[in-house]
Amino acid sequence: MKIKFYGTRGSIPVCDTGFQEFGGNTTCLQVTFENDQILILDAGSGIRNLGKDLIQNGHEQFEDIFIAFTHFHWDHIQGFPFFAPAFDPRRHFTITALGKNREIQNLKEIFENQMEWVYFPVALDNMGATFKFHHPESETLQLNSATITAKLHEHPGQAYSYRIEENDKILVFSTDVEHSNGIDERIIKVAQDADILIHDAQYTDEELVNRKGWGHSSWQQAVEVAERANVKYLILTHHDPEHNDEFLTKVEKEAQAHFPNCHFAREREEIIL
Ligand SMILES: [Zn+2]
Ligand SMILES: [Zn+2]
Repeated sequence: MKIKFYGTRGSIPVCDTGFQEFGGNTTCLQVTFENDQILILDAGSGIRNLGKDLIQNGHEQFEDIFIAFTHFHWDHIQGFPFFAPAFDPRRHFTITALGKNREIQNLKEIFENQMEWVYFPVALDNMGATFKFHHPESETLQLNSATITAKLHEHPGQAYSYRIEENDKILVFSTDVEHSNGIDERIIKVAQDADILIHDAQYTDEELVNRKGWGHSSWQQAVEVAERANVKYLILTHHDPEHNDEFLTKVEKEAQAHFPNCHFAREREEIIL
């Protein structure tokens, strides 16, 4: 399994100087399986570069590219209208939101509304590619040799963690997580024994005091989750738009002093698991 970060920023993209190392695009992750098939997690502004790379690299997967969503806050869908492969009539995408008890009723409507003519000139149905909307009342999906499971965690408007297992390797993606009454025990369960846990770390503990109800974690909470869930390696993401490279480098060192096997995600970094 390979992971590539195309978006590591939370809330809104930033392109200012001082934001180039950790990156300015919002959440988007590419997972590549052993048969070279890919899974895309979330469609923040980073999906634009992901799409450009797929085309440039001549990626030959035209059937059933899955785009799975943790949730539908703006910073997790805003890149979708700029995802070039979605304009290619040869391509077939399956858009999915795995997990039980999702409160959204109509998955297609979310993207149709996002691309209504008041907001965007091209309608979803006119993009070109074919889209299937897969909204199961199930939390597990088998994609060839990979098993993907989604579990609800605490976040305003609901968000789900994804646990992805292939060949005895475990990747867990838990972004947009609030631990309002101590650590959300559901995250400990879903992250148990992961080789890599990617966890929300938008704030520091000090900042979090004035950000209650905003739906995010501190890096200290992410470290606590990693320790309690016996995670081998922790990657912190969903960086606050106010946190520049200098700040993130400083807190990364603090986090590593507590949990050496960790770092803050950098846009375009690739990890082989
Ligand atoms: Zn977010
Ligand atoms: Zn969110």
